[in-house]
Amino acid sequence: MAGLSRSAPTAPKLTVPGRGATDSQAGLAGRARRVLPGGVNSPVRAMGRVGRDPLFMDRGSGCRITDREGHTYIDWVGSWGPLILGHADPGVVESVRAAAGLGTSFGAATEAEVELAEMVVARMPSVEMIRMTSSGTEAAMSAVRLARAITGRDVVVKFAGAYHGHADGLLAEAGSGMATHGVPSGPGITAAQSAETVVADWNDRESVAAALEGHRVAALIAEPVAANMGVVPPGPGFLDFLRQATRETGAMLVFDEVITGFRVARGGAQELYGVEPDLTVMGKILGGGLPAAAFGGPVAHMERVAPAGDVYQAGTLSGNPLAVAAGIATLGRLDPAAYARLGELTDRLKAGLGDLVEGRPLQLSSAPGLVTLFFSDHPVSNFRDAARCDLEAHARFCRQMLDRGVYLPPSQFEAWFVSLAHDEASIDHTLEAASDSLERVF
Ligand SMILES: *Cc1c(COP(=O)(O)O)cnc(C)c1O
Repeated sequence: MAGLSRSAPTAPKLTVPGRGATDSQAGLAGRARRVLPGGVNSPVRAMGRVGRDPLFMDRGSGCRITDREGHTYIDWVGSWGPLILGHADPGVVESVRAAAGLGTSFGAATEAEVELAEMVVARMPSVEMIRMTSSGTEAAMSAVRLARAITGRDVVVKFAGAYHGHADGLLAEAGSGMATHGVPSGPGITAAQSAETVVADWNDRESVAAALEGHRVAALIAEPVAANMGVVPPGPGFLDFLRQATRETGAMLVFDEVITGFRVARGGAQELYGVEPDLTVMGKILGGGLPAAAFGGPVAHMERVAPAGDVYQAGTLSGNPLAVAAGIATLGRLDPAAYARLGELTDRLKAGLGDLVEGRPLQLSSAPGLVTLFFSDHPVSNFRDAARCDLEAHARFCRQMLDRGVYLPPSQFEAWFVSLAHDEASIDHTLEAASDSLERVF
């Protein structure tokens, strides 16, 4: 198969626990299904929607990953966003190794946490103070708790197709893996929790106004560039409208920048669009490929968090030394030149895909470092539009791309993540593969 290479014979012999087994890919998928629901630890990894078993990965380097059968792929998933420097970046790996040698966890304060917090505060325009967590789910859940405490209100407004982690109250019409697998938001979620979540339509001002005026809203939470229904940027002035409408109705504006933070610009979407939220949720890039996330905002809000204030929030591994080391190593590399380069790479990918879109039922959507190819003949501006895509054509495309050594998100409702480890050659290989694949899809 063209472009699909075997791993180098000089690849180091793996001595990592659990990585010496001799099962085939299919054998391993069967073994996995017996002990892990669906064979995976997170639904987006299952590849059922593109008609195959999940791939098991052995290793990654730069923009390439290698599965256990030795097939190497150009990776556009990047662990779903964190790996903006690519796989096994030597600087990140060395920082983590050094931190591990000094102790993997203390359950006590460390200087490195302070340093990472200072780096975040220096970057994110609206953030003066943060509380770290281990996952974006916890950070979003905690930001909502804080907003409810500050406003004394209960209702949360979110957008259809937006994902804010899997906390009960935030799962309504949550896009991403739920949309991919057609999972309804009901089971396991109480009626009371559902009643406290109101869903509005992205890029639809009337639906936002109705939600804010019809309820006592504690927080409106938004991905400032929607990226879990595929990439759908805000329409002109939409984020300004959210800022104004929440201010007028006394609701807090929460930007979930778990994907956009440190990616679409150094200071996230709030810098790119010049709109400051009341609270910000961060994750993914913040941990540089290890588990770290955070929520933050002005001191006056954040000092309500325990032990400074009365809103309880905690975590055994929050601010973990290894994750903090990876975060510092990653953020430290993201200077203006890095963003210029990320923009250049995104533009090259976009331009090439733009040529392929011509005359086909495809829509190209993007933001710096993020791209989605929607299999649809109409423009996509919200989740309803995204949900009308031709998922079968998308699945055929993903399988064709895998055969050509390109690993895409196995879902229509996700972004391709551009990293600084991609280069002109890997983009051109991807575009060639896309051109051949599309010939066979339509
Ligand atoms: C991934 C994601 C989350 C959840 O983060 P986890 O670390 O997976 O819990 C929250 N919000 C957005 C926008 C995300 O993309």
